[in-house]
Amino acid sequence: MRVLIRGAGVAGLTVAHELAILGIDVTIAESAAQPGGGASWFAGGMLAPWCERESAPETVVRLGQGAADWWDAALPGHVVRRGTLVVSPPRDTAELTRFAARTSTFDWLDSEEIELLESDLTGRFRKGLFFRNEAHLDPRRAITGLYGRLAAMGVIFHFGAAPDFPVDGFDHIVDCTGASAIGTSAGLRGVRGEMLVLETPDVTLSRPVRLLHPRIPLYIVPRGDGRFMVGATMIESNDRGPISARSLMELLNAAYALHPAFGEARVIETGAGVRPSYPDNLPRFSTDDGIIRVNGLYRHGFLLAPSLAQDVAAHILSNSKTNATRPATPFDPVPAVNRRYEDPMGASR
Ligand SMILES: Cc1cc2nc3c(=O)[nH]c(=O)nc-3n(C[C@H](O)[C@H](O)[C@H](O)COP(=O)(O)OP(=O)(O)OC[C@H]3O[C@@H](n4cnc5c(N)ncnc54)[C@H](O)[C@@H]3O)c2cc1C
Repeated sequence: MRVLIRGAGVAGLTVAHELAILGIDVTIAESAAQPGGGASWFAGGMLAPWCERESAPETVVRLGQGAADWWDAALPGHVVRRGTLVVSPPRDTAELTRFAARTSTFDWLDSEEIELLESDLTGRFRKGLFFRNEAHLDPRRAITGLYGRLAAMGVIFHFGAAPDFPVDGFDHIVDCTGASAIGTSAGLRGVRGEMLVLETPDVTLSRPVRLLHPRIPLYIVPRGDGRFMVGATMIESNDRGPISARSLMELLNAAYALHPAFGEARVIETGAGVRPSYPDNLPRFSTDDGIIRVNGLYRHGFLLAPSLAQDVAAHILSNSKTNATRPATPFDPVPAVNRRYEDPMGASR
């Protein structure tokens, strides 16, 4: 069986992985010059289903809680399992209480317990929430690592591919083009996310820290070597253009509120990605015109792509007349947990 996947973001690469380990011949056509040409490049890389529950349905927890294990199995050494710390400025502790009421599987921390976790935050916050089961990874390392692994497994990549990349000879076509499918995948919209990368030797954090704020909730994800990803705005827009001055100011203000030493940090990078999102902000796959469309990962690409990819692979296998053409590799990622994705013909309409 031969499968063509369009798009080498986190969706395309995880689907390719789940197919390749079954021994299926996979080709990926990516319009950019390298993998991760879209939103995946700008992600925070948080695998934080319990925190996300604050604004997402329980489904996200159920489908996302196996993500860290999946990434660990696919790319050993990439996942950092140190939990998530959530804090709020003293004047906004109501935000912390509200966040706690909407989430679960955390511990309340006082200032001394916060200090034990993150000594650089000593004396800065009176209360916090610790989601100890959460994890994170560096999305760019994960994307390039997955690309390397897939290439080693025999997956063929075509970079700079045109939209009319030839489809002859493929048994299945899987569209994983993210926000580029807006307008062709019914109901799909963009949610712009702006981010920046700061560098300072004066702050050390061991885990993602979320700073609750009534207007702009912020998170900071340590990337190592004194670098920190600061994100992210949520704007209903398909605009991929550079970060706005206002968003830049707000993200910098929030970083400064977390720790004043960020005021002296260097701004290494600013960027913006468009999160592909369906009306319910949940991902799905559907089939139309013989194309399997995998999309809608919203703000949960690294969190939910593994589960979604497993279901897409199962769907392709169960809808194939031909069998895999190569023996399956012995690699077996974590068993699929609590699957829920279906092939709802037109469910996104
Ligand atoms: C600022 C920000 C922070 C985020 N933080 C997190 C986080 O912490 N945790 C998390 O889980 N998620 C996070 N997300 C969400 C996550 O990044 C997205 O859900 C995810 O990247 C979507 O992946 P995708 O593969 O569907 O799309 P994309 O990553 O956009 O990939 C689509 C790919 O298709 C290619 N393409 C487009 N058109 C064509 C074509 N015609 N032919 C071939 N290729 C084509 C593009 O070049 C691109 O490489 C964040 C997103 C943003 C913007």
